[in-house]
Amino acid sequence: MITTFLNQRFNQALAILLLIGFVTQAHAAVGDTRITTWKDDRTAAFLLMFDDGWPSHWQVAIPEMATRGLVGTFYINPAKAEFTKFKAKWDELMPATGMVYGNHTMSHHGVRDLEHARFEIGECARIVRELQPGKPDRLVSYAQPGVPKGKWNLSNEDRAMLLEEYNLVSRPPFKDHGAVYHKKTLEDMTALIDKAIATKGMEYLVVHGVERIVPNWSYQDFWPLKQAVFLPLLDVLKDKSDKRELWVTDHISQHQYATERDTATITVLKTDTNDIQLRLKSAADPRFYDHPLTLVTEVPADWRECTVAQGATQTQAVVVNGFLTFHAIPNGPVISLSPANAP
Ligand SMILES: [Zn+2]
Repeated sequence: MITTFLNQRFNQALAILLLIGFVTQAHAAVGDTRITTWKDDRTAAFLLMFDDGWPSHWQVAIPEMATRGLVGTFYINPAKAEFTKFKAKWDELMPATGMVYGNHTMSHHGVRDLEHARFEIGECARIVRELQPGKPDRLVSYAQPGVPKGKWNLSNEDRAMLLEEYNLVSRPPFKDHGAVYHKKTLEDMTALIDKAIATKGMEYLVVHGVERIVPNWSYQDFWPLKQAVFLPLLDVLKDKSDKRELWVTDHISQHQYATERDTATITVLKTDTNDIQLRLKSAADPRFYDHPLTLVTEVPADWRECTVAQGATQTQAVVVNGFLTFHAIPNGPVISLSPANAP
């Protein structure tokens, strides 16, 4: 009796599932396009951030990350001795490895008043943009330095004004995300990664020093993260990145992607056997928000390799199971998809 009842419920559930499947399929059509939650249709985003411009960043962290194809954000203090003494290292590393600089103020000593804050924050922004050339007013990530009580004499309103004036974006807070300080073990850190993936969201870790073994200096940098934790963490990040579960990126790229994505709309302008045309719009200001979004479009069953054109930009992409995955800039020219072998 109970078995029959359960069977009936099972059959009802199955019928509903089949119906949902039918309806979903009936709505799918050539030209249907979705914007992926994160770049390359990866599940989640993860940010590695390094504060204070310690020598162990270029001695240990950057080479180890670069060999694994990982990038991070490095928050520098251009007036600190650790920076000025090794400026040549900082000059050459960024273009060579794809790492990204962030603004951690000039001295890390705090600010006396608004004028001093304008120098501490504004001059650091200028130097970051000079070290890493790009669009002159491009967004730069800002990390508020931790300074002794009484040393930060600037209202939140004035700070917000300066951040806007210098096109700076505050990074997520240090709270609960500091390596060595809050997150001590590899398990603590992989739990952050697992959380990002489970929520399809973003997580991050803020690192200060990294343990220095070679070269053998007589001291370690501030809050040194043991290599026995740091290197396996990088291996996990690389593995998750290879499996497309994670987009390991810099703060500004993640911020741009999320901001553009959250207000993006797609309009299908045209679909025929040899051409699909789409318009990608976003409410984000294109002067600052020009990171490509990843789109997935259903294409005709006989398309294999495709040409993706947006204005002067042309790329090739291969169709997988009837869907084409490609990048496009919001608020740019019309996007045109066509089979590569089209007449
Ligand atoms: Zn700091």
